Amino acid sequence: MTEFLPGSVWLVGAGPGDPDLLTRRAERLIGEASVIFHDALVGEGVLALARPGTRLVHVGKRSGRHSKDQKTIDRLIVEAALAGERVVRLKGGDPSIFGRATEELEACRAAGVPVRICPGITAASAAAAGIGASLTLRGLARKLTFVTAHARAGEELSLDWDRLADPEATLAVYMGKAAAPAVSANLIEAGLPGDTPCALVENASLPGERHFHTRLDLLPLAARTALGDGPALILIGQAVAGGSNAQEHESAAADASELAFRR
Ligand code: SAH
Repeated sequence: MTEFLPGSVWLVGAGPGDPDLLTRRAERLIGEASVIFHDALVGEGVLALARPGTRLVHVGKRSGRHSKDQKTIDRLIVEAALAGERVVRLKGGDPSIFGRATEELEACRAAGVPVRICPGITAASAAAAGIGASLTLRGLARKLTFVTAHARAGEELSLDWDRLADPEATLAVYMGKAAAPAVSANLIEAGLPGDTPCALVENASLPGERHFHTRLDLLPLAARTALGDGPALILIGQAVAGGSNAQEHESAAADASELAFRR
């Protein structure tokens, strides 16, 4: 049953940005909402599907610029539901992946507010589609790991690098742009070869989508020089080798040798 009753909350996956990548259920719920609390990463085209008169509340968090803290967001969605609204909490990608969904589910349940999840296409899927690659590869990438490389301000990134450095896995690194140097250095130190293929995908599914193929040892350079300010995903592993533009890799290698030369 997917009825949208007044006084209830749906955590809705908005997908990676292109409204075409919404589920039909997400589109219907967005159209039925009386209020939508949305993240910074939810695309304009998705928000445009709201009914005229629907209240759109931006509660987005992007690193460094927290507009609302999580507790405030929890409180806002609960209050709106208790006031009898049909509440959509619209989150980029899939709500259950690095989306603080648990806090919101618990806040709703604690207040007796019915809450459900509508899944969405996660950034890793959109990024793989963008580069025309599979995230898994028979015999070579039997495991797919989603990891966030976001460290709290002033704290060091703490991940189990030995477990992540698996040559038979694909690693999808969310929020990894700033941490690219640490990701590269730690994975190599934990034994992953420096020539492991990597792909950087910025603005997956959006008009400004960009891809960059490189290798693990050159990843920091690629992340620094090739990416703009859009959200970006790092894919690491044999499954993402090659890709549509071999020149991209060459230009990263050229930049790296130039850098080595300058040192
Ligand atoms: N729940 C979301 C992830 C939230 S974390 C999901 O399932 O996709 C936010 C991170 O997701 C960003 O820092 C970036 O790494 C990634 N991301 C989100 N949208 C993206 C897009 N369109 N292209 C590339 N990466 C994206």
